[in-house]
Amino acid sequence: MSFSLRDAHAKGPDEYQERMKLYKKVETVTLIPWYYLAAVDQYERTIRQVRKDLPKAESVIGIYFTPEKWAGPTNPNPEEENPAIIQFFNGMGVDGDGDGKASLKSDEDVLYTFANYLLSYGVDDDNIKIGLWNYYHRDKTVGIIAGKAKIYRHFGRIDLDTHVFPLPLRSNHSYRSTWGDARGWGGRRIHEGTDIFAGYGVPVRATNYGIVEMKGWNKFGGWRVGIRDINNTYHYFAHLSGFAKDLKVGQIVQPGTLIGGVGSSGYGPPGTSGKFPPHLHYGMYKDNGYTEWSFDPTPHLRLWKQQERQALKSKK
Ligand SMILES: [Zn+2]
Repeated sequence: MSFSLRDAHAKGPDEYQERMKLYKKVETVTLIPWYYLAAVDQYERTIRQVRKDLPKAESVIGIYFTPEKWAGPTNPNPEEENPAIIQFFNGMGVDGDGDGKASLKSDEDVLYTFANYLLSYGVDDDNIKIGLWNYYHRDKTVGIIAGKAKIYRHFGRIDLDTHVFPLPLRSNHSYRSTWGDARGWGGRRIHEGTDIFAGYGVPVRATNYGIVEMKGWNKFGGWRVGIRDINNTYHYFAHLSGFAKDLKVGQIVQPGTLIGGVGSSGYGPPGTSGKFPPHLHYGMYKDNGYTEWSFDPTPHLRLWKQQERQALKSKK
């Protein structure tokens, strides 16, 4: 499966402002924290980008309701916009913008409808998670949304789209596209990543805004770290020499946060090292709400390197 290099970003800074305004407005009315609304919205926008059974998000809010869910499963008119009739047929749609209609075409109605759903459980973390579970019926989805909420809350903003290359640009390193090769170090069935060769101990950095989802030893991957970003992409760093001091699961990171060093750990019991030349195995996995699959990180690594170089230049 392929998809564009571009993640689920806003079309411009104005769109971020518009989104944030809606989150805050609906938070004021429902007391559902804005960062949960932002997290659900971003989750849905992102899965719509990679799912063929869902229409792409066209407007500012990315949350998707089927007309049946909105108007009520037994409602003979799936285009129904009368809030009273929708309620009669147990539809979810409610009027958020106060124009007397519950419209799927109104971003405010759509966002308010999701907040209104969560509100029936409560406004605290635990009850919101129960509401999310009852909506998505998938632990992983609830975990991903809760992680995004934590990231947005931590930074207090939603424009978190900058990236860096995993190794310092000035370090001596080399890589080529090795994704999909039959053999490799740390792969599973096929080689699910790009190997970046560099000296032992060269710093390894988070490439995205994200949350540390996994840290530990694996027979093949050695010492490794997994970071989930705000686009449902899981970034996997393997064969590390060790971890950055105090790095822990649940920690929020940003592009450039030190996570460990390049190493050659793996292929044996914990601590095994030196069975192959030191390199960083960089893997990327996309979640679409049902399943997760590996894709080639190489074009992304190239793009991030370019972007980081550009950003450094413009600072001078
Ligand atoms: Zn590898």
